[in-house]
This record gives sequence, C-alpha cells and structure tokens, in this order.
Amino acid sequence: MSNDIKNGADNAPASNFLRSIIEEDLATGKYAKRTDPNGHLLPQVITRFPPEPNGYLHIGHAKSICLNFGLAREYNGRCTMRFDDTNPTKEEQEYVDAIIDAVEWLGFDWKDEGGDHLYFASDYFDQMYMMAEYLISAGHAYVDSQSAEDMAKNRGNFSEPGKNSPFRDRPAAESLDLFRRMRLGEFKDGEHILRAKIDMASPNMNMRDPAIYRIRHAHHHRTGDKWCVYPMYDYAHPIEDAIEYVTHSFCTLEFQDHRPLYDWLLERLAEGGFFKHPLPKQTEFARLNLTYAITSKRKLLQLVEEKIVDGWDDPRMPTIVGIRRRGYTPESIQLFCDRVGVAKADSWIDMSTLEGALRDDLDAKAPRAVAVLRPLKLIIDNFPENLVDECTAPVHPHHPERGHRTFPITKELWIEEEDFMETPTKGYFRLFPGNKVRLRYGYVVECTGCDKDANGKVIAVRCNYFADSKSGTEGSNNYKVKGNIHWVSATHALEAEVRLYDRLFTDPTPDAGGKDFKTALNPNSKEIITAYLEHGMKAALPDDKFQFERHGYFVADRVDSKPGKPVFNRVTTLKDSWTK
Ligand code: ATP
Ligand code: MG
Repeated sequence: MSNDIKNGADNAPASNFLRSIIEEDLATGKYAKRTDPNGHLLPQVITRFPPEPNGYLHIGHAKSICLNFGLAREYNGRCTMRFDDTNPTKEEQEYVDAIIDAVEWLGFDWKDEGGDHLYFASDYFDQMYMMAEYLISAGHAYVDSQSAEDMAKNRGNFSEPGKNSPFRDRPAAESLDLFRRMRLGEFKDGEHILRAKIDMASPNMNMRDPAIYRIRHAHHHRTGDKWCVYPMYDYAHPIEDAIEYVTHSFCTLEFQDHRPLYDWLLERLAEGGFFKHPLPKQTEFARLNLTYAITSKRKLLQLVEEKIVDGWDDPRMPTIVGIRRRGYTPESIQLFCDRVGVAKADSWIDMSTLEGALRDDLDAKAPRAVAVLRPLKLIIDNFPENLVDECTAPVHPHHPERGHRTFPITKELWIEEEDFMETPTKGYFRLFPGNKVRLRYGYVVECTGCDKDANGKVIAVRCNYFADSKSGTEGSNNYKVKGNIHWVSATHALEAEVRLYDRLFTDPTPDAGGKDFKTALNPNSKEIITAYLEHGMKAALPDDKFQFERHGYFVADRVDSKPGKPVFNRVTTLKDSWTK
C-alpha cells in the first residue's frame, strides 16, 4: 500500500486528463451554438458540483469543488452549485448552509451573466415525474409489483443473467395507472416500484431493468409532504445534468459502470423531446484518498458522535470546517488540488503534500512573531532592574516594505526549555555555562549558570549581557556567536493558550481494507499548553495567521479567541517531522 502513496513533491501542476477532454470538445465545437430558452448562447463548458446535503464536506469534496469550479473558470464556462436532495430522509438545511459556506470560502461562486446557478434537484421533481410518465408510455419503463426478495433473486449475478419480472410486459396503460396511484399515496413503501425496461441479461448489472422511482412516505426538507414517490439517484442525476445544460459531468470512478444507464436515459428522453443533443457526457476520475485521514462521511460522523473529536469543526478533522479552523487557507487547498492533479486510478496522496502546500502559501504571506512554547526563565543579572529596551524585528524577512514590529527586552525573559543544557551534548551551540548566544533581535549574552529547585530541576538560567552588542547597532559585529535563540520579556509577554495539533491517526491508511480506524488513533493529536507570546499578538483577530519563528504556522482560533485574548492553533510545523 505505501508504495502507492504519492506526495506530489515535484510541485508541478499535475496532469489533468479532464482538460484534454474539454479542449478536444472546444476544438470540435461540440457544445458551441447551444442556447437557453431565452435564446442566450450557453457557455461551452458547464460543470456542476452536486453534493448530497447529508453531512459536512471534506477534503475529498474540496478536490471535486476545485476541479469543477476551477475548470469552469479556466475555460470561461459555468459551474452550477446543485444540491442533490432527492433522498428525503437524511437531508437537512444545516448541511445546505454549511456546504454553501464551504464552497464560498474556497473561493468559488455560481453567478454569471446567465444568472444565479444555485439549484436544488428537488425543484425538478415535477419534471422528473413527467419524464417517468413519458418513459412508461413509450414502453421504456414499467411498474414492477414483485416482492423485494423476488426482485433481488431474479436480478441474477455476475455469472448468471437475470430473469424477466412477470410484470415486465404489463400494458403501458396499466403501469401508468399504477404509477399515478403510487404518486397519490395509495400504496405502502416497497409495494410497487418503477423500473426502466432495458435488458435483464446485460452483463452490466446496472442495466438489468434498474429501479428509477420508488415509494417513500417521507417528509422532504424542501418539498415537505408533496411527494411520496422519489426518483432513484441513477435516474435523477442525468436529468439534473441535462436540465442545467451540463456539458461535462465529472464523477468518481465507482460510477463508471453506471455510465451506460446515464447515456441510455438521456437518449430516451431526447427521443421524447425533453432534451436536445449534444447531451451531457459523464467522465470518471479517481477520488482523493489522503493518508492519516478518513474521507467517508459515515466514519467522520462516527468520530463526532463518539466524541473522539470535538465536533465537525475540530481542527484535526479533514472536513472543510475543520481544516479551515485548523488554519488552512483556501489558496493552500487550491494549491494542493493543483499539485495532486486528477488521476484515472485510485491512489493515496500523502498528508505531507497538504501540509507542504500550506507552508508554501503561508511562508510568503504570514507575518512573523515570537512565541515561547515550553518556557524557562532567563535572568540577565547585569541588566538594569527597570530598564525596558525596545527591540525591532521585520514583519516579514523577505518583505522589508511590510515594516517592523517592536517588543521590549527586560531583565527577566522567557526562553525555550530546550535552548539551555547544563552539560551540552556535542554540537550544541545554544545556552550552557560559559557559552555566548545572541538573543534574536536583542543582545549577546553569556551564560553563567542556573538555579535549581530541591529536586534538581532547572528553574532559571542566569547570564550577563553585553550592552554594546544590540542587533542593528555597529557594536553587534564585534560578537561572533553560533547560537541564536528567541525569547520574550517575562514582564511584557502575552500569556496565551496554544493548541498543538498533530495528525489524528498514526496509521497512514487508517481505514483501508476494512481496518478499524479507532485502533489507529494518535494519542498525541492534541496538546494544550500555556505559552508566552510577543505582546503584539494581543491584537490578533480570529483567523489571523502567523509564523511563530522556529516553531511553525499558527492561527488565532476562529471560535475561541476573544478580543485581546487570542487562542492559537498550530496549523503545521516548519518542517515535516513525519517522513521516515
Ligand atoms: P460519502 O460517500 O462519504 O457520503 P459522497 O461522495 O457520496 O460522500 P456527495 O455529497 O455525493 O458525497 O459528493 C459530492 C461530490 O463530491 C460528488 O460529485 C463526488 O463525486 C465528490 N466527491 C466525494 N468524495 C470525493 C473524494 N474523496 N474525492 C473526490 N471527489 C469526491
Ligand atoms: Mg454520494
């Protein structure tokens, strides 16, 4: 399995065979000259993003969003935002709102000169119903009254053809009458079902008279109790595409065997005058599987319900609300999707590719700041007791035009625990008795020793400073030191909660091959600490992102930060610590 993990490390936009298909269609003018009912010319590339509003979107959906909206944008086309809400029981408005929010956050919209292309498949129920009546009248569909068991038995299997239902040849008028009565609510769930009349001997099981309408006495989140018959996915999807004039219908590989049905239905409905050629064309691509993550709505729900994570927007979740809260930017997600590209065969993409995209995006953008995460006191014995001396550092080392930040140095500072060793190991250049280091943006100090508690634990490090060594002054050049450590003033620093997040699983493929993903949980995926930050961080607003020097990228949590009291999440470390 691990051999199949790709990391997209070459950073080149990955090949996209869907582009070639679009370009060929543009070259032949396949979808040129189509007009809508008002006579307006339609774009030659119309894609759609069709989520079912039954859960929160995840990184796999982000790939589909970037692909469909991205290609439409690239070719001056249109991408419709369609809620595939044909299944009445599991869908909710909460999910509709969350999905709209996620797609907009990723940077896409569905408005163009032709209008606002936000659609609900349930708005097409009347049309779908009419088309079903037509298919019955034309001899392409029939009401089957077999029991569910008989239907399953007569379907055959991969090695045996199916058997025709005894109701297959009932007169169209009889089927039509039954179908109308199904709609009127005269029957119970499962008593009858509408099937397409195709071929019970087809080697493709999807073509063995698939069910296209079923009875379902259920309340729908938009149509209420208007309907008690609902279209099946395979029937509804091609119709939704055709109604929206979709040209390129991109879906994941598991729908490959459904394509003949997609085409069959649209051809029949075109014969009936419902749609015009050229019809939408379905093309399949490989779904995104991300290592150390799970991309199944059902399993994500389990993580939430069993309180393994703190909700859908837990920063460790691969949901869009989760990665957003974690601190990922829309640009980093788009960059990630570009890098992984689109494949024709399933594979796993390594989590480091996603983290790498975030680093590459934020390195250029994020202002720098100093944070001490594992604090240890440093006392400068020869520093004047009440002196508060301003130090200056660039907001961004490569962008002097972005200005400077200042923070004070005082007699007592916080430094990282690991920046002091009483007995240094070989090659250690930071603080140890007798050694000099530079306090970044401040002075050179020489370590003189340390204070310990009764257990021998180091509680403070002692040093003296050289008053003429301040960074940015002439004197600083007279000091050559190998170590350069960060610090904050113990009297001025901002004390803040910092949440150190890491991967949720320790197994790269936590749910592959039916494995129980709960046995692969990383016990260290969340650690909450109290850190000391450069005092300017007090002004950080929710969603503001920073590089904490030497530590990584951090974001002010969008939910728990309060004015003047930010809470920070670690998005990712500066370097990948997971590659073996
Ligand atoms: P689940 O099976 O987990 O419930 P789903 O794929 O059925 O998820 P939909 O709401 O039907 O969820 O998905 C909307 C669109 O997103 C579909 O076009 C689907 O192909 C695409 N999609 C879903 N998961 C992935 C993935 N992992 N990689 C790429 N595209 C995906
Ligand atoms: Mg689905």
